[in-house]
Amino acid sequence: MISLIGQDRIQLAQTLATVGVPSTQLKMRAQQIWHWVYVRGVTSFDEMLNLSKALRIELSKTCSVALPEIVKEQVSVDGTRKWLLRFPADGPDRPTPVEVETVYIPEIERGTLCVSSQVGCSLTCTFCHTGTQKMVRNLDAGEILSQVLLARRRLGDYPDAEEDLEIIAPLSGRKVSNVVMMGMGEPLFNFENVKQALLIALDDEACGFSRRRVTLSTSGVLPAIDRTAEEIRCMLAISLHAVNDELRDELVPINRKYPIAELLDACRRYPETANCRRITFEYVMLKDVNDSLEEARALVNLLQGIPAKVNLIPFNPWPESKYECSSKKQIVRFANYLMEQGFESPVRTPRGRDIFAACGQLKSVSEKTVTLK
Ligand code: SAH
Ligand code: SF4
Repeated sequence: MISLIGQDRIQLAQTLATVGVPSTQLKMRAQQIWHWVYVRGVTSFDEMLNLSKALRIELSKTCSVALPEIVKEQVSVDGTRKWLLRFPADGPDRPTPVEVETVYIPEIERGTLCVSSQVGCSLTCTFCHTGTQKMVRNLDAGEILSQVLLARRRLGDYPDAEEDLEIIAPLSGRKVSNVVMMGMGEPLFNFENVKQALLIALDDEACGFSRRRVTLSTSGVLPAIDRTAEEIRCMLAISLHAVNDELRDELVPINRKYPIAELLDACRRYPETANCRRITFEYVMLKDVNDSLEEARALVNLLQGIPAKVNLIPFNPWPESKYECSSKKQIVRFANYLMEQGFESPVRTPRGRDIFAACGQLKSVSEKTVTLK
């Protein structure tokens, strides 16, 4: 089955040509399907009422607009929702199904969907649970985007949906108002697929998210940061976590390849190229590791000249993690110092810890299977 989800307009027209749509109709049919899938949120060809019955039957023989299976849905006491999603096995390159986690975090004024880009992660940041899971494979554009479609459908964001009062969501507007690429995986190691998914999420004729509400978080894959600015132009978050190379080499090992000074140079170029106001720096608060006032001072020095906001993330523990979260007092001290120096520095409230849905706690049991020949 060919999934039409995640195909750009050109790929979709090519697929339609293979099921016999005449060339004069390709553009129109592609537009119609695009509308049904992304604006109306339908998941079967039967519902696409302006396509002829014959075409609908033809399409359903070889193509699909189905969403992944929800293996498990957990709801935290704070309304955060975590889905374990399964993508089926598909052909020789994908001999086994894989599972990833997607998290929805409702707040009063916005609802943020935290989307995964890979099954596992090839990097091994020492404080991150996903980093302990071996990299299984990249998700394709359709698999990335279908996390957004699934959440919108499940939460009732499409025009024909009935209101479900059980769901905790923002007071007004879309239930999923923001998308962050902060789930499992390093999005910039899967650049092409992430780009294709985000461009459809941002397209006004598809999901129509505003650029200010779509954020990509990276551990610092340098060459791809410039490409993100030029080709996706979404908001950027950098997982900084340390102010000197010695410590960052340890916490975020990709730093050995792309050290802090070079990373910050790319950050200086980003706002102008991507036409965004500022960059977010993420800083996980690890007790006695990176949380001293001296480090807050060094952070301020490093960020000079970059329009920046610093998100302080209290460390979320996971089984066998070797760190402790900084004390509340120390986090407040660190945040206050940054604020006095003119940097907005919100402390991220841990959400969904009771269901292991908070930053850095995601992990699925999918393992890489080696096919023996
Ligand atoms: N791979 C990307 C995006 C996913 S992680 C990246 O590293 O940026 C999303 C954020 O959660 C990152 O800033 C990451 O460093 C942070 N994080 C990872 N483990 C954490 C933990 N145990 N507690 C708090 N934050 C964590
Ligand atoms: Fe991968 Fe990001 Fe976790 Fe590092 S913090 S291991 S890059 S998911």
